Amino acid sequence: MKFCLKRTFVLFAIVGASAALTSLRAQTTAQSADPANEHVFLVMTDGLRWQEVFRGADPSLLTKANNDDRPVDTLVRQYVRSTPQQARAALMPFLWSHIVPEGEIYGNRDKGSDAHVTNGFNFSYPGYNETLTGRADPRINSNDPTPNPNVTVFEWLNKQSGLTGKTAAFGAWSVIADAFNRQRCGFTDNAGFDPLTSIPMTPRLDLLNHLKAETPRLWDDETFDAPTFYTSLEYLEAKHPRLFYLSLGDTDELAHAGSYGRYLEAANRVDRYLQRLWEFVQANPDYRDHTTLILLTDHGRGDAPVEWKSHGQKIPDSKYIFIAAMGPGIPHSGEISGGKPVTQSQIAATVARLVGKDWNKQTPAAGQPLPGILVSH
Ligand SMILES: [Zn+2]
Repeated sequence: MKFCLKRTFVLFAIVGASAALTSLRAQTTAQSADPANEHVFLVMTDGLRWQEVFRGADPSLLTKANNDDRPVDTLVRQYVRSTPQQARAALMPFLWSHIVPEGEIYGNRDKGSDAHVTNGFNFSYPGYNETLTGRADPRINSNDPTPNPNVTVFEWLNKQSGLTGKTAAFGAWSVIADAFNRQRCGFTDNAGFDPLTSIPMTPRLDLLNHLKAETPRLWDDETFDAPTFYTSLEYLEAKHPRLFYLSLGDTDELAHAGSYGRYLEAANRVDRYLQRLWEFVQANPDYRDHTTLILLTDHGRGDAPVEWKSHGQKIPDSKYIFIAAMGPGIPHSGEISGGKPVTQSQIAATVARLVGKDWNKQTPAAGQPLPGILVSH
């Protein structure tokens, strides 16, 4: 079998069919997952640009003007390298040394890979709604804390056999509670400054709840990523959910604040959190070899020298995002070059397919799963 595949590989190489090469590699290296045992961790970091993900730090933005409060030379030493490959590995080492080699990443526009949002707003709530339901909704046209009228794929999956009571969502931004519709969704939906009280209290969780409530608030509707992340880890360890959602916000807030160095540090922290999540996965027999990790952002941002701080309808290029994934059923395609565009609206159906469910049957207008997801039925 191996020999035959190798020969086919050579044949394709001779005819120069690079697209076929990519799909062949996907077929020969990804394992077909048994959805009844699978877990999905969906992580979003708000407003992280594809430019930093694929090129690393932009040296032109590491100026005193963009980093009043940070020593620029330290940031240069930490994050600036001579090639984009080295710079991105310095910024997000776990993404580039584990997730991409063992999975795939879409959205490097320098290589002709297009990943974008379809909602037309290019800001947060429309992006979370699109991700969680699989389609843009023109009614979700502000970041106001309005309970989502739409059912998310998580709410639906939480009612399916084998998945009931095995879902949880965490968000640094308080509106994440509304995006999932806390009143209706039926699972732990912990967001903003909320204490976590749905699991037995431990000294560590008690301290996290106090820190969240009592740390001076920089943003009215959002806590820092750290308490949210470590709270979600407490939940993971206590409850072992099959569907786990985490939304982080430092990347967006610190870019709006115009601190490029703090924005880079936030992206680097997200990478360390992903590594920590994966260490948890590897240390638990329920999760090890049965968990898919997906990372994306809710929207992009504008370009240097000024618009990188912002995003929205008036910055059309802020529709561009990245989508990365690894785990059973995810093709080992690595960094995607060229190919058909993928959209944020494909994430909901991807999550469902990974646990053996069909979101498109339930919500025909939702985007299809990402290409090449392999699960047995
Ligand atoms: Zn923003």
